[in-house]
Amino acid sequence: MSQRELEGQVALVTGGSRGIGRAIAEALAEAGAHVAVVARNAAGAEAAAAELPGDGHRGYGCDVASSEAVAETVGAVEADLGPVGILVNNAGITRDNLLLRMKEEDWDAVLDVNLKGAFHTVKAVTKGMMKRRDGVIINVASVVGLMGNAGQANYAASKAGLVGFTKSVARELASRGVRCNAVAPGYIRTDMTADLGDAQAEALQESIPLRRLGDPDDISGVVRFLAGPGARYITGQVLAVDGGMVM
Ligand code: NAP
Repeated sequence: MSQRELEGQVALVTGGSRGIGRAIAEALAEAGAHVAVVARNAAGAEAAAAELPGDGHRGYGCDVASSEAVAETVGAVEADLGPVGILVNNAGITRDNLLLRMKEEDWDAVLDVNLKGAFHTVKAVTKGMMKRRDGVIINVASVVGLMGNAGQANYAASKAGLVGFTKSVARELASRGVRCNAVAPGYIRTDMTADLGDAQAEALQESIPLRRLGDPDDISGVVRFLAGPGARYITGQVLAVDGGMVM
């Protein structure tokens, strides 16, 4: 991998203010990209962008569940930084509960952010990518979308949906020079998994062949690879980055 293989490209990372998204934003910035960090909390997005290595990064407050907000934000990013060549759909939430206790609003909230959010961002950036016959889309799914998980029917459905979405977008846009892949992280230490108690973490570790939970950097290097020229012949794939949980 060359040191700055994404030099001068513009990357938009949703959920880039914290956790996995923040590590992805850092990795893409280290590769030379100008990064648009998107999150609901504008101050958080701006602060994260300001701390990225290099210059030409910006933060934007935007709820990806809103098609209007996404269209407006992508317009602002393209005016500020230039055409988006790399899109990383990483924003995600959980509203866990057993199926019989799961409220319809919790189902809708998770699907609206995790799945529909990606639909909105892809729609907003692909016209330009197709015109330029160049673009990369990376969706952050989850092993839960591949395996299912008790208490996460809404989340698992959203992530399995992202897998189908990824493959459909890949098939539809390959002839236009746009690649679309997904990563499916296992259990990664972030705010999202902060509630995991020590006993639970230990039990989980036992089920992971590499015997540890992951860190955001375990994911960001893979996203950097998928965004770059080393992955130019890869599209429509779902790469599990999970210490071997799914094989
Ligand atoms: P996290 O620490 O909770 O961070 C979530 C990020 O998404 C934050 O930047 C948050 O910022 C943003 N966000 C949430 N809702 C949003 C919305 N509606 N619009 C725009 N931004 C929004 O989560 P994480 O653990 O890093 O997870 C990142 C992605 O990896 C998610 O898609 C998650 O499902 C997936 N994943 C995580 C794990 C894991 O073990 N952690 C495993 C598999 C997959 P604001 O709050 O300011 O909006």
